[in-house]
Amino acid sequence: MPDFSPTQYAVPLFVIAVLAEMLWAKFRSPQAYEPRDTLVSLAFGLGSTVAGGLFGGLAIYLFIAAYDYRVFDFGTEWWSIWWAWPLCFVLDDLKYYWVHRAGHRIRWMWASHVNHHSSQHYNLSTALRQSWTGAFTFGLLFALPLILLGFHPVMIAICGGFNLIYQFWIHTEAIDRMPRWFEAVMNTPSHHRVHHATNPRYLDRNYAGVFIIWDKMFGTFEAERDDEQIRYGIIKQLGSFNLLWAVFHEWIGMIGDIWRAPWKHKLSYLLREPGWSHDGSRDTSDTIRQRWRARTGQINQTESVARRNLIADPGEAA
Ligand SMILES: [Zn+2]
Ligand SMILES: [Zn+2]
Repeated sequence: MPDFSPTQYAVPLFVIAVLAEMLWAKFRSPQAYEPRDTLVSLAFGLGSTVAGGLFGGLAIYLFIAAYDYRVFDFGTEWWSIWWAWPLCFVLDDLKYYWVHRAGHRIRWMWASHVNHHSSQHYNLSTALRQSWTGAFTFGLLFALPLILLGFHPVMIAICGGFNLIYQFWIHTEAIDRMPRWFEAVMNTPSHHRVHHATNPRYLDRNYAGVFIIWDKMFGTFEAERDDEQIRYGIIKQLGSFNLLWAVFHEWIGMIGDIWRAPWKHKLSYLLREPGWSHDGSRDTSDTIRQRWRARTGQINQTESVARRNLIADPGEAA
């Protein structure tokens, strides 16, 4: 079986790029790097590689078993049909969009994905901040439709590896905007800064991996504004550089909530959005956004369309 992890070959490039950005930050943006934060991010990167080695191999064998039940067959050898590769890459990126969106909207998956967001800094080392606990969510199952369509698990893993490599360079403040056509189609530093922001306007936006078009198609796109300073991190900041706390804090919080909740609400603490509580005592990204809208007089597009329709259609009023 071929080596299915192109990411490990990119590590030397990652290291050189981080060092170059550190040098840039020293002169242009000293607050971009905080040594203890960078160390935690690097430990996340290293640990996730180990965890990936331990659990990723297991997943690939499960997927190869599922591949026997594929609907289409792309030739005698899975790698021989060249056009299957770009198709697989694009569909895998669509899959990434939904895994990532679920990672923000289902607490069980957020408990793992929060690791990528818990830095209050935004630089190339943030990209290496990958979860250790992804195997304990059901995120991998999102690949099943692709496998059943007939894409070989190794092909999907290779495409996923290149997808992750692409996402490295967008974790920077050193690049302002790319050319317009590029910003329109591709995920960029500007779009992804929005994704890492805690500003109410930006919460749960821009889930894209490589192509930003998915966010535009599914209504989760928000453009970066020049008149709004970004606050990076998570709603309730970690407030420490303790690595183990950074890895497990949301798992601990979630298990505690499930333990304390009345029986009929226990499952909701696992499957509903982060911040959800059965007595409504906490904030979710939706309630934060609603409050911000009410405060600033912002209405969203659906509301404004609904209002226009109400005015345009007198029958509705009668
Ligand atoms: Zn995210
Ligand atoms: Zn990111």
